[in-house]
Amino acid sequence: MKRFDNIVILTGAGLSAESGLSTFRDKDGIWAKYDYREVATPEGFRANPVLVHDFYNQRRRALADVQPNAAHLALARLEREHAGGVTIVTQNIDALHEAAGSQHLIHMHGELMKALCAHCGERHAWGGDLGLDTACPTCGRVGGMRPDVVWFGEMPYQMERIYRALTAADLFISIGTSGNVYPAAGFVAEARSAGAHTVELNLEPSEGASVFAEAHYGPATRIVPAFVDTLLGAKR
Ligand SMILES: [Zn+2]
Repeated sequence: MKRFDNIVILTGAGLSAESGLSTFRDKDGIWAKYDYREVATPEGFRANPVLVHDFYNQRRRALADVQPNAAHLALARLEREHAGGVTIVTQNIDALHEAAGSQHLIHMHGELMKALCAHCGERHAWGGDLGLDTACPTCGRVGGMRPDVVWFGEMPYQMERIYRALTAADLFISIGTSGNVYPAAGFVAEARSAGAHTVELNLEPSEGASVFAEAHYGPATRIVPAFVDTLLGAKR
């Protein structure tokens, strides 16, 4: 395999599933049990903030029991050992990439382990629960704290930086994403039109599978380390 200078990797829930975190869109995923309009939209938060806080407090507590898996660790190793650039753009709100050691990381859908104050706009690292009576550590006001996650109807974070990375990429890898959530689902076309080789690594072909030049299917903990081995081996 040829050597690549700039690698951009998009990751989704399928990467964290083998760490024990529920996916959102699978048939037994989180959106099969909850109505996303109630717990993951600004309107839902205004209508019932207690329900929304409970939902994300549960998700945040669940993170305490999970560890990065072999796929997260392989991507961190790729960043350490690859001579060129490696950027991970993740749709996941967990902190497993960081726990594995990845550093060049964009959380386009926000982070469960951060809180955002609607009053002053400050973000804070957040490991505990959030509620209506939570005071902002910066401005001291209560009632404005929310999970720093991007809800349906809100603009994903750092889109300019992501598109700059996609335009400069010569290899784009999509891992564990359903391929039906925009704008992330459009990244492969963006990278491809900029001349990048495109690879899908997924449990099964995604909805956008036909757009990729190369694909490998199977559990992330098997196919991601194998693909990283191939990439790093190509340099030697
Ligand atoms: Zn504040």
